[in-house]
Amino acid sequence: MVSSYEAVIGLEVHAQLHTKSKLFCGCATAYGAPPNAHVCPVCLGLPGALPVPNAEAIALAVRAGLALGCDVATSSRFARKNYFYPDLAKGYQISQFELPLNARGALEVELPSGTKRIGITRIHVEEDAAKNLHGVGAGTDTLVDFNRAGTPLIEIVSEPDLRSAEEAEAYLRKLRDILMFTGVNDGNLEEGSFRCDANVSIRPAGDETLGTRTEIKNVNSFRFVRMAIEHEIARQQAVVEAGGEVVQETRTWSESHHKTRSMRTKEDAHDYRYFPDPDLPPLVVAQARIDAIGAALPELPDAKRTRWRAELGLTEYDAQVLSAHPAVARYFDEVASALCAQAGGAARDEVGKRAANFVQAEILGHVEQAGLDARFPVPAAALAELLRLVERDVINGKIAKRVLSEMIESGEGAEAIVEREGLAQVTDAGAIEAAVRAAIDAHPAQVAQYRAGKTAVLGFFVGQVMKATRGAANPKQVNALLRELLGEP
Ligand SMILES: [Zn+2]
Repeated sequence: MVSSYEAVIGLEVHAQLHTKSKLFCGCATAYGAPPNAHVCPVCLGLPGALPVPNAEAIALAVRAGLALGCDVATSSRFARKNYFYPDLAKGYQISQFELPLNARGALEVELPSGTKRIGITRIHVEEDAAKNLHGVGAGTDTLVDFNRAGTPLIEIVSEPDLRSAEEAEAYLRKLRDILMFTGVNDGNLEEGSFRCDANVSIRPAGDETLGTRTEIKNVNSFRFVRMAIEHEIARQQAVVEAGGEVVQETRTWSESHHKTRSMRTKEDAHDYRYFPDPDLPPLVVAQARIDAIGAALPELPDAKRTRWRAELGLTEYDAQVLSAHPAVARYFDEVASALCAQAGGAARDEVGKRAANFVQAEILGHVEQAGLDARFPVPAAALAELLRLVERDVINGKIAKRVLSEMIESGEGAEAIVEREGLAQVTDAGAIEAAVRAAIDAHPAQVAQYRAGKTAVLGFFVGQVMKATRGAANPKQVNALLRELLGEP
C-alpha cells in the first residue's frame, strides 16, 4: 500500500481560430446558422475537391505560437488522421503530425505557491469535424450538420507538468486570456470554440515513471474541468488501492452525475495511420512573415496589469477586473489615455483610479454580448469627455451618472447635455453661501443640535443645500462653508 499518490495531468486544448472563413475553403464559420447552410464540396469531403489553406488562419496560429513562446517552423506539414465516424465524411481529418507549425513553448501560471512554468509541447493546425445531432428528425435519428466541418482549430498540447485540478484550471484560464487578447480565439466555452481534453494518471509520490493515463473528453466549463479531474484522480486512486489496474481509455464527464464514465478504449497515434496529405504541399511561412507577426503582437494581460499599476496607480483588484476581457481592457485603455494625455505624475494616479471606478461601476453592467465584438453603451472618447468634466469640477460624480444615462439614451455628448440642462456645478462662492445661510436660518433646532456636539447633523445640512441647488453645488465647498458658518461644535 502506497501512502500517497501524485497526479500527473496534461491538457489538450482545441481552440477555434477567429476567422471569417473555414480552413481549406471559403465557407463562413459563423455560429448558429441553420444546419448545412455553410457547406461546399471541400468541407463536405466530396471526392476530387481540393483544399487551399486559409492565410489568415495560419497567421493566427503563428501568433498563438509566438505569444506562447514557441519555435515557429518555417516549413510544416499537413497530415491525414484516418478514422471512421459519421461526422467525418472524408474518412480522415486534416491535421499536423510529425511536423507541427509550433513547438517547445511554455506558459507561466500564477499559483498560490508561486509561479509555475508549464511546458507546451506543440501547437498544431487542424480542421474541425462536422457535428452529429442525435434524436432529431423522426425522433431517434442522428443527422449530421456540416457547418462546423473544416472550421480552423489549433490544438495546444501541454507537457504533463500539471499536478492538480487547481493547476489545470489556472493554466486553462490563463491560456484562454492570452488567446483572447491576441485575437486568436473568442474564448467562448459554451459555443465550443475553446474545448479541453485532460490526460490524467497517478503514481506513487516521488516516482519518476508515468502511470497509465485516461483521457477525459470535451469538458466545456472551467468548473467542470476541475471537478472532472478531481473525480478522475480519486477514481484511479480507488482502483489502485483496491488492487486493480487503471485501464487506458477515453472517458466522458457527465454533468448530470458529476462523474466520469468510460467511453471507449483509448487509441494510440499509430491507430490513425497518419501520413502526409498528398493534396497539400508543405506549409511554408517565411521567417520575415513570422517576425512581422511577432512585432505586431498585442500587449498581453500580464503586461497590461503591470503597466496600469505602475502608470495609473490601479490596485491589483481593479487591474484584474478590467483585464478580464480584451474588449473591456481596450476600452479602459482608450478612456485612460484620453484622460491622462494632459495629466502627469500623481494627478495621473487620481485620474486613472477614477476612470477605473467609473468604468467598473457604470459601464460594465451595460456591455452587450461578451464576445470579442462586445458593444459599449458609449464610445471611449465620449466617456473621457464626461470624466474630464468631473476632473475640472464642472460637474460632480453624482451628476456624472445622470449625464451618462442621458448620453446612453440620446447619444449626445456630455458637454452638450450639461449645457442644455444647466447641470454645471455651482462653484460661485456667493451663490453657495446664500444657499448655506438659507439652510441654517430655516433649521434652528438642527443648528442647536450641531453646536451641542451632534456633528452627524452636518450631513442633514449638506442634503438641504444640495436639494436647494438641485444637486449642482460643489460638495467640497458646501462642506467647508457649513463648518465655518456653524462654528465649532
Ligand atoms: Zn466549404
